[in-house]
Amino acid sequence: MIIKNLVVGPLAANCYIVGSEATKEGMIIDPGDDAEVILRNVKDLGLKIRSIVLTHGHIDHIGALKEVKEATGAEVAIHTDEAKSLQKQPLSTLLGLSYPTPLPADRLLKDGDSMDIGGLHFLVLHTPGHSPGCICLLEQGVVFSGDTLFNYGIGRADLPGSNYSQLMNSIHTKLMTLPDNTAVFPGHGPDTTIGAERSSNPFLQNS
Ligand SMILES: [Zn+2]
Ligand SMILES: [Zn+2]
Repeated sequence: MIIKNLVVGPLAANCYIVGSEATKEGMIIDPGDDAEVILRNVKDLGLKIRSIVLTHGHIDHIGALKEVKEATGAEVAIHTDEAKSLQKQPLSTLLGLSYPTPLPADRLLKDGDSMDIGGLHFLVLHTPGHSPGCICLLEQGVVFSGDTLFNYGIGRADLPGSNYSQLMNSIHTKLMTLPDNTAVFPGHGPDTTIGAERSSNPFLQNS
């Protein structure tokens, strides 16, 4: 599996370009900003992008969505409970970032769905808490965790639409049930593993 990490935008969100070495098909996870950089990397990797998957709808993860969608023609996929964030961005005003043009999703996801891209099969895990329709994507011992789980951190639960107990429940029931050697690629910051977070993440001790 090809995994290219790009740090984009003023909030330093991780955008991932993920694809199959065999079929040269792939997807973009969270095109948060810097469309030109994302598209240049897609070209360098020689990937045909089939899907743009959003771990959730916060502005720092979708800022370059329109440009990337127009350039690739890929379908836009987001969890059902998050779809309205593509139409309206209360957070953009809150964070002082402008949100360009509303863009509807092409595919609405739910827990247990499979995103099948170029021979790769990503299992959709619904992990509400940081926002209602947060998802993580799991394939071949790798999980893309969005803003649900970070390297020694967890997603914010103090934003409009956040829910702390839901967030902890999602982490414990959907992520901490994965094997220790599962690689974690989060929405911000460096990658980690489920085992490292299980043993040392301060937010997961005594909870
Ligand atoms: Zn977020
Ligand atoms: Zn974020």
